[in-house]
Amino acid sequence: MSPSPSTIREMVRRLARRLGPLDPPPRREPIEELILTVLSQNTNDVNRDRAFAAMRERYPTWEGLAAADERALVEAIRPGGLANTKAPRILAILAEIARREGGSLDLEWMKTARLDRVRAYLVSLPGVGPKTAACVLAFSLGRPTVPVDTHVFRVARRLRFLDDGVDVARAHVVMDELVPASLRVRLHVGFIRLGRRICRAGRPDCDACPLLDLCPTGAVLVGA
Ligand code: SF4
Repeated sequence: MSPSPSTIREMVRRLARRLGPLDPPPRREPIEELILTVLSQNTNDVNRDRAFAAMRERYPTWEGLAAADERALVEAIRPGGLANTKAPRILAILAEIARREGGSLDLEWMKTARLDRVRAYLVSLPGVGPKTAACVLAFSLGRPTVPVDTHVFRVARRLRFLDDGVDVARAHVVMDELVPASLRVRLHVGFIRLGRRICRAGRPDCDACPLLDLCPTGAVLVGA
């Protein structure tokens, strides 16, 4: 059975007590959060930030980045990994935004637009999936949604927020249905930290987990 809102509230309280304040990352402009999230795919935060800093140093304006030579951009973002995939993706995203926005890369309108409209716009950009869209919504725009990355997905499955057959796209819908709006971003932050430190891929350290008595998977593993 899925956790109730009161159980989820208790989870967030315990995660904050164990892992520190569950604050979201610093707020960035939508276009910046979007490109940063593309750079974060399949790498860690340190390498993502190195790639982002190198990219911004070489292309200080978004218009300059949109006009970048693909090979030069690949070199600039190489520290973040998968540069041959991410560079053309970034250029395709910026080209599509410019096409839709009449040549502009300004996404200010998202700050006052309906959540569903912003999400639909973002996921229809080339190479942008539900997690990237949710990161822009949650972190740049302060909207109540749960970005489901690999850690959140694993932890949420083990805690039975998600059934076994649920894919990542559907997981975003289910998490927003289950988690009260005021808890969504903090739950995301807490699950990422739990997933990195305790509920790791492979065998989780359930004995050290603050959610053990609330977790069906932990009950099986610890009892085993
Ligand atoms: S009890 Fe174990 S499986 Fe459950 S959330 Fe904690 S670490 Fe993960």
